[in-house]
Amino acid sequence: MTESRQGLILINTGPGKGKTTAALGTALRAAGNGMRVLILQFLKGSWHYGELDAAQSLGANFVLKPMGRGFVKIGGAETDPEDIRLVQAAWAEAREAIYSGEWDMVVLDEINYAISYKMLDAAAVAEALKSKPEMVHVILTGRNAHPLLVELADTVTEMREVKHAYQRGILAQRGIEY
Ligand code: ATP
Ligand code: MG
Repeated sequence: MTESRQGLILINTGPGKGKTTAALGTALRAAGNGMRVLILQFLKGSWHYGELDAAQSLGANFVLKPMGRGFVKIGGAETDPEDIRLVQAAWAEAREAIYSGEWDMVVLDEINYAISYKMLDAAAVAEALKSKPEMVHVILTGRNAHPLLVELADTVTEMREVKHAYQRGILAQRGIEY
């Protein structure tokens, strides 16, 4: 065991609820330690989430940016080229941010989802993460994390669904889902 500080790669994946919110919780913890946190949300956009306002109230060292446009039509030939373009742009910005030295933690929310729908190349992401600046923490969220990334990561958590309110017809609740 070593106590020296080092940047980690974490993945929150699996079918249960809590992947994004666990990443936000970790981000909050980092911010409380004076770390500079950037959260880039792949695919998300247009909807208003509570965490957008909460992030703003934390100031310039806790930045949350939706990089998509919300509803994404996915699946092979149906994927809208515009969504692919937005994912690629989000990745370009993410990569730049990880390497910039400006952030201590970069959260790539829903990036696993973008990769699993072939909007982004897993190998390219793995390559970039392999040689990332040592001290930067990176968190990747979303279902179906790619095996290449799972192998590379230091800490991988799979959320398991025991039950979800949605199954009883309870729609998304403010403060819980958004
Ligand atoms: P959260 O943002 O609440 O942490 P998540 O990141 O684990 O959820 P996503 O796959 O990103 O899950 O989906 C986000 C939305 O889908 C949330 O509104 C969440 O409540 C809902 N959701 C997540 N898991 C399930 C599930 N097993 N059944 C139904 N809805 C779910
Ligand atoms: Mg999520």
